[in-house]
Amino acid sequence: MEIVDVPEPHEPGPGEVLVGSMAVGICGSDYHFFSGHLTEEAGGGQFPRIQGHEVAGTVVAAGPGSELEPGRAVALYPLSSCGECYPCRAGRPNTCDNFQLIGIHVDGGLQEQLLMPADHVFPIEEDDLGVAAMAEPISIGVRAVTRGRIGADDRVVVLGGGPIGQSVCLLARERGAEVLVVDPQEKRLGLSREMGADAMRWTTPDEVVQHAREWAGGEGVPVAVDATGVPQAVRAAVDMAASAGRVVQVGMSGEEVQLRVGSFTEKELDMLGVCCCGGGEFAEAVAAVERNANTVRRLISHEFELERAPEAIDFAMSNPSEVMKVVIRGA
Ligand SMILES: [Zn+2]
Ligand SMILES: [Zn+2]
Repeated sequence: MEIVDVPEPHEPGPGEVLVGSMAVGICGSDYHFFSGHLTEEAGGGQFPRIQGHEVAGTVVAAGPGSELEPGRAVALYPLSSCGECYPCRAGRPNTCDNFQLIGIHVDGGLQEQLLMPADHVFPIEEDDLGVAAMAEPISIGVRAVTRGRIGADDRVVVLGGGPIGQSVCLLARERGAEVLVVDPQEKRLGLSREMGADAMRWTTPDEVVQHAREWAGGEGVPVAVDATGVPQAVRAAVDMAASAGRVVQVGMSGEEVQLRVGSFTEKELDMLGVCCCGGGEFAEAVAAVERNANTVRRLISHEFELERAPEAIDFAMSNPSEVMKVVIRGA
């Protein structure tokens, strides 16, 4: 990764907004992309690329037809869809076959200014742009609780206490659900407890499954969410789920996992995948960040200036247990 000069973006035309002073969160998918593990077949983009899909900034200028005033803090919905393919026609453009994510398929937020379609630019009542940038990871939590149909009567186990697991925890707690977060790191569990969740150290799959089922009242877990992508955890989520329960897969991975076929027939499980989120859910995420700024701020463990972006990625990738969320800030 290197810092280079690129041409200035053009003046925003109709339906466009020029955003500057970006704050950008770095996440696991950035590591996968940077190390070349997101191939074209897996839906990844090509190099060279300006990374950054968890982006907030301020409006520099808005094209004709936009009401956004210069200086307004905004969070950016990173996904564009084609509107033509089956998932788009089925009303799920977040899984579009031709989707384009900023920072992966087209240039993203790790630059001084970025031109965006106006309907991807969401005003946010939050002065700290680093916190505002968390609207994107929070939007994954919104999508997860929507897909899992999580409500006030649910007992939800979240495997993985990283930023996405914490985001699911936050949104599920807001919906009134009881939540148990499982992670190997005590430090991460503390944050979940502050949101009113129960917490458990990841030990062995058998122990975790048994404890989770007991925690849920002995009948199994109504909703199990995997936010790790680790085969052992995915398997544990399926094993701990109650009959008629839901398993929500949020953690990304290219790994394969062995599952007992009978789990799905005998328990009639709903296995639900989560991919980014829709525009309406992004708006919900912006509102969730506004309501929970103090909690969301705690997700940010490290900050770097834009000039030190290469160092920031390197640091995040080589210190996975120390890093919760790295945010890179523009000037
Ligand atoms: Zn991300
Ligand atoms: Zn499409």
